[in-house]
Amino acid sequence: MDGMPQTLAPSPALWQRTLKAPIGCVGVGLHSGRRVSLKLCPAEPGQGIVFHRTDTGRAVPARFGNVMDTRLATVLADPSDPAVRVGTVEHLMAALSALGIDNARIELDGPEVPALDGSSAPFVFLIDCAGVQEQAAPRTSIAIRRAVRVSDGDAFAELRPAAVRGMPGLEMAISIDFAAPAIGRQALSLHLTAETFRRDLARARTFTLAEDVAQLRAAGLAQGGSLDNAVVVDAARVLNPGGLRMQDEFARHKLLDAVGDLALAGAPLAGRFIAHRSGHALNNRLLRALFADAAAWREVTEAPVSAAA
Ligand SMILES: [Zn+2]
Repeated sequence: MDGMPQTLAPSPALWQRTLKAPIGCVGVGLHSGRRVSLKLCPAEPGQGIVFHRTDTGRAVPARFGNVMDTRLATVLADPSDPAVRVGTVEHLMAALSALGIDNARIELDGPEVPALDGSSAPFVFLIDCAGVQEQAAPRTSIAIRRAVRVSDGDAFAELRPAAVRGMPGLEMAISIDFAAPAIGRQALSLHLTAETFRRDLARARTFTLAEDVAQLRAAGLAQGGSLDNAVVVDAARVLNPGGLRMQDEFARHKLLDAVGDLALAGAPLAGRFIAHRSGHALNNRLLRALFADAAAWREVTEAPVSAAA
């Protein structure tokens, strides 16, 4: 019943969190090929995740409404000046959200987050090195109240209310279907927590088809791509000398991408995410559809100090 506190599952962290200390790295952007210096810094409660282009002095909040391009990666831009872009935010956003970081100032001196190894694992490592700080402000999450679905042909992405009312976090399920036999059909489902993210998703790398590489390069994309930061598939073969990290690395990476894209909701989601062949475009359309329907979601702030019953 409304207003009745329910304790059906382990409670999520009740307090907002940031990084304990700044930490940085340097790497190359997957699409721009630009060498970029990245720094993750603590931020005040209520700030959310905000990217700061130190080379232009402009800030771009990590919110779904600021997504300007979803062709091969999720690209944010300043709505008042679309030239101020921050590309390929999804693997970093996935690590921040899965590890429960609500507030951070992300500084970078170029147009794209470094690819590093093409997964979220290096960002998890950076966050672990920096440490996590709880803040004296309650965390607000977004509970899904009504199903929202977007589709494109047979591809779809959907958010539904939690199977058990009051259940925190996201139940996630994804399936993919590629003509390349090395990928084929794969499906994966999990309850997203820091632990499942670390174990099942964080190390899964981005991937591309060998037949697309020349075309991408000609279009000015994948300039920084290599076998060091992407899995490249040629029909039945994986071209990377070390092979795959997990046999279903492709489905795991697609779910990792969804975690990063959904983090642009600006607060943790509580409910179910179900998708087939979804990607950055559908994931972004899903958030836009969710927030366009005021009856489909509700903000939930749990009181950190439980009141007497
Ligand atoms: Zn990705």
